[in-house]
Amino acid sequence: MEQLAINGGTPVRENKIFYGRQWITDEDVAAVGKVLKGDYITCGPSVAALEQKLCEVTGARYAVAVSNGTAALHCAAIAAGIGDGDEVITTPLTFAASANCALYVGARPVFADVDPKTYNIDPESIEAHITDRTKAIVAVDFTGQAVEHDRILEICRKYDLTYIVDAAHAIGTRYNNTPEGSIGDMTCFSFHPVKTVTSGEGGAITTDDPDLYRKLRLASQHGIVKDPAGFENESPDGIWYYEMQTIGFNYRMTDFQAALLISQLSRLGEFSARRKEIVKRYNEAFAGIPGIIVQREIPESDTTRHLYIIRLDSGILKCTRREFFDAMSAENVQCQVHYIPVYFFPYYQRLGYERGLCPIAEEIYEGIMSIPLYPMMSDEDVNDVIHAVTKVTEWYRK
Ligand SMILES: *Cc1c(COP(=O)(O)O)cnc(C)c1O
Repeated sequence: MEQLAINGGTPVRENKIFYGRQWITDEDVAAVGKVLKGDYITCGPSVAALEQKLCEVTGARYAVAVSNGTAALHCAAIAAGIGDGDEVITTPLTFAASANCALYVGARPVFADVDPKTYNIDPESIEAHITDRTKAIVAVDFTGQAVEHDRILEICRKYDLTYIVDAAHAIGTRYNNTPEGSIGDMTCFSFHPVKTVTSGEGGAITTDDPDLYRKLRLASQHGIVKDPAGFENESPDGIWYYEMQTIGFNYRMTDFQAALLISQLSRLGEFSARRKEIVKRYNEAFAGIPGIIVQREIPESDTTRHLYIIRLDSGILKCTRREFFDAMSAENVQCQVHYIPVYFFPYYQRLGYERGLCPIAEEIYEGIMSIPLYPMMSDEDVNDVIHAVTKVTEWYRK
């Protein structure tokens, strides 16, 4: 058996590899440079072009580009008319922003448990948590795999709820051949550098509903409109005229970020194909390693995976997750944990959420970590990661 690096053995690779990273080409840089030297670095034509491109990619009628994925969720919560005393059902296995958007508008996040094999929100648990205060569902396509949209849509229709999809992980994913972005009432994306395509910071909301679109625009641009006529209001005094119709925020994306994202989106197919290739290699390798559990894939989802999660089988391994994680770090494979259940955080604890709310999510959390997955990884990088997982697993097998 190979001696672990953490015990003084030789690491599987010399330099550290991280769980995710962006891929910026010379073309991306040129696209940004061109905008920076032009007339508009914000509020210009690149944002409009990006929104058009996002409609093409997602199949949605409307897209609103914003400053980040968290802002996208906030705008969606505003547009849905969620407010004081309302409840929003979401998953605890997500980044805090998926739940925080309810708090931003005075509502209460309610956590439904997840499916023990896919780790996505469980529609049965959603239904069990519905009350007469429930206003919306924020479902997260965890790791990029689509949630069970058909069942969740049915629940939304039955109880008259707004369906918000947090697809921060899932641009490029298709559910029953429909792209993410045109399934929920509103779909939120993030373009943070670890996500599949990036604008540095960035986000967007897509929708097919003209009324939601109008509200999303208002929420993200100070509640101000320049052409109130277009919004069926009285005629303006002159061309300087604009009016604030509601309270909103400045959540605009800049034009040079939009240019970067347009350039990145032109390679979405390539990014997606490479991610799928790496996932396939991992799936094949880990199927033969007792002690490692991989996420179940549902046939309805043609997934562009953002994260690859391994779960330790505590019946087979004798180490803790911490020991496994530290051993991987010593092999120079830097993993990460996605995610600490949202209601474990001190802020949520102070709001009265208690541990034990979602036992399946909590149990999954105990044994998971994300291993490197990004399109720029070489075949050698992929082999190193598989080597490290195999080596550490063999060492700790009972
Ligand atoms: C990244 C992420 C967000 C937030 O996106 P930002 O662009 O970082 O604000 C929201 N939800 C999920 C599931 C995410 O992974």
